[in-house]
Amino acid sequence: MSDNDHVVIVGAGQAGGDLAANLREKAFSGRITLIGDEDSYPYSRPPLSKAYLLGNKIRSDLLVRSDEMYGRFDIDVKLGTRVKSIDRQRKRITFGESEHLDYDALVLATGGSPRTYPDERLNSSSNVFYMRALDQVERLRPHLTSGTRLTVIGGGYIGLEVAAVARTLGVAVTVIEREQRLLARVTSPVMSSFFDRIHREEGVALHTGRSVSGFDFSPDRELSRVVLDDGTIIETDVCLIGIGLQPNTALAEAAGVEVNDGIIVDSLLQTSDPSIFAVGDVARYPCSESGGTRRLESIPNSTEQARALAQTLVGNPAPYNAIPWFWSDQYELKLQVVGLISPSDAVVVRGDPQHDRSISVFYIRNDEVRAADVVSNPREFAMARKLVTKRAVVDPAKLGDASFPLKDLLPVVNSSFSVGGMPAYHH
Ligand SMILES: Cc1cc2nc3c(=O)[nH]c(=O)nc-3n(C[C@H](O)[C@H](O)[C@H](O)COP(=O)(O)OP(=O)(O)OC[C@H]3O[C@@H](n4cnc5c(N)ncnc54)[C@H](O)[C@@H]3O)c2cc1C
Repeated sequence: MSDNDHVVIVGAGQAGGDLAANLREKAFSGRITLIGDEDSYPYSRPPLSKAYLLGNKIRSDLLVRSDEMYGRFDIDVKLGTRVKSIDRQRKRITFGESEHLDYDALVLATGGSPRTYPDERLNSSSNVFYMRALDQVERLRPHLTSGTRLTVIGGGYIGLEVAAVARTLGVAVTVIEREQRLLARVTSPVMSSFFDRIHREEGVALHTGRSVSGFDFSPDRELSRVVLDDGTIIETDVCLIGIGLQPNTALAEAAGVEVNDGIIVDSLLQTSDPSIFAVGDVARYPCSESGGTRRLESIPNSTEQARALAQTLVGNPAPYNAIPWFWSDQYELKLQVVGLISPSDAVVVRGDPQHDRSISVFYIRNDEVRAADVVSNPREFAMARKLVTKRAVVDPAKLGDASFPLKDLLPVVNSSFSVGGMPAYHH
């Protein structure tokens, strides 16, 4: 890109905000426009289901960068503005009534939207919530008062984090999960049963392996009861639906850019159109860790992709090839995850998942440590990251012995892999 070039970024979320800032930090002196349909400057979503929901953070704590940075960096930010179409021939996007902007490079950082339940009455009930944006959380928060009954549909990370906050606030919580175990898409059975135990100990009523067969509504059209496929009736004052995310690909698709559960990009995050790039939750990239292509939904993935793309756009091509990592906070527990697991991995556990509140689980493939879940032990996580990055070959007996120091298992050889991204809400 030259000094006269214009980079237009669609989507003012984590990846879009980071990319705009990174471009200036890497001395790009051309024009940058960041366009987002939310009213806020780019903000961090993880606290929405954690500290912000609990009331331990305020709005300004969530900003990805301070709002004055955009002016200082001469980044033109258009908030509350939805991009409607891309004209690839003219290299032009349209928005508002009939406004348009021409680009030299267009970056799609459009993230995703919560997968919705196919039930009109449910979705229009004033006590039913999804969780992606600040305004949704601000509407949910006043409902979470001691003694109210929250039903969470979906036992993934977001559902469980909200369940944990709600229990902390004295709310009676029921979680419904269609799969046989919690977090089934993202972790091993041993971690699922660990979190199952923790949530039950905290007083959550869990229904795994159960689907919703119906909903009842009050005369004022609020959801009042959730009915399960075994006939169980769950009286409900407020409901959170956390059943996954759909990538916002419509804009790309309508423009004829290749899409398949995400916008398809190469390792330089370039789409099937050489002037258009995609980063963050919406991008499906070639993943050397798992083979094939992958779309990850995490902060590390968004920020690392933004950094790599900024570097590429200023003329130093930087293929994205990070080892995913991720975290989740539930009650006082901090889960940290590195690497991507495969169902055939051998599993080595440090600690007692049936009794302890801090354990580590390692995943071994072809004798190499390829992934780890570490609960409430940041030091051990730092070691686990090194073991995974180096694809260390270790003695499973020592790895599983909580009294054996992990650092003594580290090999001396180096690896070319860097760490970034995460496997959490992945597909
Ligand atoms: C409740 C919650 C908790 C989470 N917790 C964690 C966690 O603990 N750890 C972790 O690593 N990750 C977590 N994540 C995931 C993480 O927040 C996402 O991976 C990250 O926000 C993705 O960034 P993004 O920029 O790709 O997308 P987003 O942050 O979703 O930003 C995309 C933006 O683009 C806008 N947009 C879409 N289409 C258009 C258009 N046509 N015109 C203009 N604007 C448009 C969207 O409205 C949105 O503002 C969590 C997510 C949620 C929702």
